[in-house]
Parts: sequence; structure tokens; C-alpha cells
Amino acid sequence: MRDVVIVGAGPVGLWLAAELRRTGVEVTVLERLTEPVPHAKSLTMHPRTLELLAMRGLADRWLDEGKRIPSTHFALLDNRLSYAGLDTKYKFVLFLPQSRTEALLAEHASALGVEILRGRAVTGVRPGGDSVTVETDTGETFRARWVVGCDGPSSTVRKAAGIDFVGTPSTLSVPLGDVRLAEPPEAVSLTVNGDNGALFLVSLGDGRYRVSPTDHSMLHVPKDEPLTLEELKESTRRVVGTDFGMYDPSYLARFGNATLQAARYRNGRVLLAGDAAHIHMPLGGQGLNLGMQDATNLAWKLAAVIQGWAPSTLLDTYEAERHPVGARVIEDTRAQTALVVSTSPENKALRARFNELLAGHPSLNHELAVQVSGLGVSYGSSGWRMPDLDVGGTSVFSLLRDGRFVFLTTGDAPSLGSRVDVTRVEGLPWGGVLVRPDGHVAWVSEPGAGSVSDAFSGLLGWGSSGVG
Ligand SMILES: Cc1cc2nc3c(=O)[nH]c(=O)nc-3n(C[C@H](O)[C@H](O)[C@H](O)COP(=O)(O)OP(=O)(O)OC[C@H]3O[C@@H](n4cnc5c(N)ncnc54)[C@H](O)[C@@H]3O)c2cc1C
Repeated sequence: MRDVVIVGAGPVGLWLAAELRRTGVEVTVLERLTEPVPHAKSLTMHPRTLELLAMRGLADRWLDEGKRIPSTHFALLDNRLSYAGLDTKYKFVLFLPQSRTEALLAEHASALGVEILRGRAVTGVRPGGDSVTVETDTGETFRARWVVGCDGPSSTVRKAAGIDFVGTPSTLSVPLGDVRLAEPPEAVSLTVNGDNGALFLVSLGDGRYRVSPTDHSMLHVPKDEPLTLEELKESTRRVVGTDFGMYDPSYLARFGNATLQAARYRNGRVLLAGDAAHIHMPLGGQGLNLGMQDATNLAWKLAAVIQGWAPSTLLDTYEAERHPVGARVIEDTRAQTALVVSTSPENKALRARFNELLAGHPSLNHELAVQVSGLGVSYGSSGWRMPDLDVGGTSVFSLLRDGRFVFLTTGDAPSLGSRVDVTRVEGLPWGGVLVRPDGHVAWVSEPGAGSVSDAFSGLLGWGSSGVG
């Protein structure tokens, strides 16, 4: 019997598999497609996701290939969110097609020893006692102690686990195309606003551009209706007055604004992560980032339960911590959608006013940048994000490479068992700090904080009576 079967070799399934395998867990990934899809839905990687990659020593692989842009848009408004003032080494968004991210993640997971089996569509998931049986269309079955559905919006796993997907269906559509441009703009990335809508345009780096006009006169077109190059050109002209001489499309599609979230992220031995747990309008490029962050939160908890050093109740903290984060991104994308698709004079006035506020109020601009970048995620009083401090010449992130707990102290090291790497450092702003494998702070030595051993046991779910 395997420890974990992950359904879906998208970015979230691959990252989760690698994070689990790093800690010694036996993982098999089942993917229905025999080959990865060549086109990319996502392009944008935000600073917090780059930080997660940096913690495992991987960020350079992405940075070497992607394009850095020191700002991002909010609701495609002209006045962009500045990333220059963010408290991170990664003061930019990185544009890299999702297909490259998936290829890098597959390479990384395979190097760690993850088994990735393609051409297996999961058709059923049957829980039974201390295991779960996964059925596939090839007739093979796979037994595992835990199953994680990373199988995207129509998740078979979510349905089999009887978990509701709650929210609103798609009511509009926006076209996008990956094309060549005979008359490209000078900028690598553009958001342009006009009376008839807004345009998102970004260079993909191989002479191609992604062009996506939110054309108010075409919002009613059904999402699944095939898009032609001529339509994309017409919409782009309507919005910005030129089609940039676009030709040779490699990908034409429409996306919608379906907004749904799983009512629960766990039912018994079945868990959900990524788009299987939440979908929303892709404004601000947040879905892949959100999903990879889910996986980082889940991996160390699942590994701890499998390896017997935490009770299974630890897994309930996955939903408790990540469901609100997903709900917040959903709320954010709904707000952005309302601003982008506004066609009435009143809504256009609201959009214009919001645009002014982004330029005139740096604190508002910064607040939104912190939120969209993923850097603002905190899990309560402890659980805030540990920045990559330089402590006595050592980067904190470099200490998290093995995905273990790290206790940094300027003084004596308490006994925390074999699960925690203790490092004595200079230049720490606190006497001691316990950092979780996902880069969030679990405990800081401050008045009234109690002992770090009690905090560690409590965090794992043993109460404060000792680490198992
Ligand atoms: C137009 C567009 C632009 C976007 N831009 C961005 C962006 O810039 N930044 C960002 O962060 N996000 C963006 N997103 C969202 C992002 O693409 C998704 O959030 C991301 O793909 C989710 O990854 P995932 O691994 O959870 O799911 P998926 O990528 O959907 O992967 C699921 C995998 O599971 C497989 N699968 C499904 N069913 C089964 C089954 N029964 N058995 C076996 N395998 C199965 C699928 O084949 C697939 O490989 C965008 C989305 C769209 C539509």
C-alpha cells in the first residue's frame, strides 16, 4: 500500500508530491493525460510562491527562465500595484508559462523519486477503514493510506468524497490568444483601458504575446464557443484601436468567471488542493499561486501524520488555515471582476475613481500589493510569514531546504526532539523563533508566549504534554 496517491499532475499535484517525497513519504501521482498540454493557462508567479521555491533551493530555475515585472495590475486598471516596496527579495511578478512551471516541477518531483503515472484517468475513490482505493479507466486500482485530489475544477475526487463545490457559475466570458504581433508595443507587459473595455497584453518571450481584451460588447458569448483569430482582432481593435497586426495563433480560448469553493478540504482520508478546492476568475493571476501555497501547507502536516509524529487531527488545521485564504482570494477576484466588466456609467465612474485612488494613495496601493503577492497570508497570532532574514550571514530560507522545522536561537537550545533542526544564530530580532516547514512562524520568544516545547506539541495536536 502506498502512503499517498495524488490525482492530477498539474502544478499543484506535482508540487505536493515533491514536498511529500522530500520528507520520505511514498507518493504516486495519477494523471489522465498521456502528455502535458503544450499551451499555458497561467503566466504569473507572485513573490510568495517564489519564496516557497527559494526555501527549497529552487527559485533560480524559475528566475533563469521567466520575465520579471516590478508591478502587477488590479482589475486591469492603468495605475498598477507597485511591488517595489514589498518586504521580500522578489519585488516583482515573474511571467513564465504554466507549461514550463509544470515541466520544471515534474523534473524536480521525478528527481526526488516521485512516481508519476500518466494515461490513468481516475474514475472512482472508495474509502475503507485505514486506506482508500483509487480506481482508474485502465482497470488498475491503487490503494493508499491517503488520497489528495489535485484534479482541477471538475475534480472526480471531490465528487467521490461527497464534498460540495459552493458558489456561482460563469455568467460572462473573456477571450484570450497567444499570437505573434507584426506591430508589437514597446512594453513587455501592458494593461490598457478604453471606453469599450480593457486589454491585458504580455510578451511570452518566444516572439509570441498573450492578448486578452475584456471587450464589453462580447461578454455574453458562451465560454465554450470556439474563438477565432478574427474575433480576437476585432475585440482588441474595439478596446484599444489597434490589433497590433496579430497573426499565427498557437492558442485561442475564452475564460469565464465561475467562482466556487469546496465546502470542506478534507473528508476522512481524502483531501483536496488547488483548483479542485477553489476556482475564480483569473484576474491578478492567483489560482496557481494559491494552489501551490495550499500544497506547501498540507505537505508537512500529512507527512507528520503518516510518519506518526502527529495525530490525524493535525490535518484539520489544513482546512482551518487554507479555506479562509481561498475565500479571501475569491472575494478579491470578485471585486476585480466587478470593476473590469463594469459597463454602466455608474460603474465606469467607480472604476475611474478606484484608478485614481491607486495612484493617489500609496498605502492603499501597497495594501493591495501585499495581498495579491501572497505575502500577507497569516494564520492567526502565530503563523505569520517568516521573511528571509539574514541572520549572522545565513539566509533563513536556506535553513528550510529539507522541509523540516527550524528553531533559531541566540541562546541555549531547548530539547525539541529529532523533528526540529536547531541553529544558534547572531542578529535575530528575538531570543528564539520556531519556523514551520512551510515558512510560517509557529512560536516567538516573547513575554507570555510559554515554552517552545509546549508550543511545538500544541501545534502538532498533542496538547502541551509532549511531542509524540
Ligand atoms: C486563462 C487563465 C489564466 C490563468 N492565469 C493564471 C496566472 O497567471 N497565475 C495563476 O496563479 N493562476 C492562473 N490561472 C489559474 C491556474 O491556471 C490554475 O489555478 C492552475 O492550473 C491550478 O492548478 P491545479 O494543479 O490545481 O489544477 P490543473 O492545472 O487543472 O491540473 C489538474 C490536473 O488533473 C488532471 N486530471 C483531471 N481529472 C483527472 C482524473 N479524473 N484522473 C487523473 N487526472 C485528472 C488534469 O488532466 C490536470 O493535469 C489561470 C487560469 C486561466 C483559465
